Amino acid sequence: MEVLTLFLIFAFGISFGAFVNVLIYRIPRNLSIFLPNSFCPECKTPLKWRDKIPLCSYILNHAKCRYCSAKIPPFYLLSELFGGILAVFCYVYFFATISALTLFFLVLLFYTLSVIDTHFLAIPDSLNFLTLAFALTFAFSYYDEILIPCIVCLSFIGFATLLRLFVSFLAKKETLGEGDLLLFGTIGCALGAFYGALAIFLAALYALFFILLMRVFLGRKNPIIPFVPFLFLGFLSAFVWQIV
Ligand SMILES: [Zn+2]
Repeated sequence: MEVLTLFLIFAFGISFGAFVNVLIYRIPRNLSIFLPNSFCPECKTPLKWRDKIPLCSYILNHAKCRYCSAKIPPFYLLSELFGGILAVFCYVYFFATISALTLFFLVLLFYTLSVIDTHFLAIPDSLNFLTLAFALTFAFSYYDEILIPCIVCLSFIGFATLLRLFVSFLAKKETLGEGDLLLFGTIGCALGAFYGALAIFLAALYALFFILLMRVFLGRKNPIIPFVPFLFLGFLSAFVWQIV
């Protein structure tokens, strides 16, 4: 495998990783994702090309805005790096196929939803449906089958809805957001019934462990936590489990 090819694929990945940062900032604020040109969220100064080079600008500017010195959150760098590593991973495992491309966008969008949920405790429907669309396309290209992924997807959404009603009844408050229900379907569709169920089980386990840590170390009795990042971690764990 040529080093130049891997470098180009890494560059492709970090470019989309940088675009993810645009989505994370603009979509929850109902701003257009294309106009105006990128600007500093603090001082609103439009950014020049040298402020927008993925990975390099963040490092060379020491994680600060060049105009007002406002600190740039670490997830900006993380998104770009994640995009690059993910693109290389998809290419190495699935070569130049539709499966590799759709998996790349599916995982990158799932990551985007995780960061948005962490910041806003809600996820936008537009990105959520787009993630499901990529999961369906991935399932179709990878498993060469569309009916079963669709059935698993709908079953998982149905199961999540029942679970939501049951847990909300027990806890006497709303649990699981509506966006989470669709993500259950996305997971089932992309991973199939067994690994999809494993992903959701692991997600619940990670979330419980996190709540336990918050109780023990921060004394928080009933913390409100975003669930999408845990679904994302569960999805990644089950996916790696599936292909290794
Ligand atoms: Zn600034």
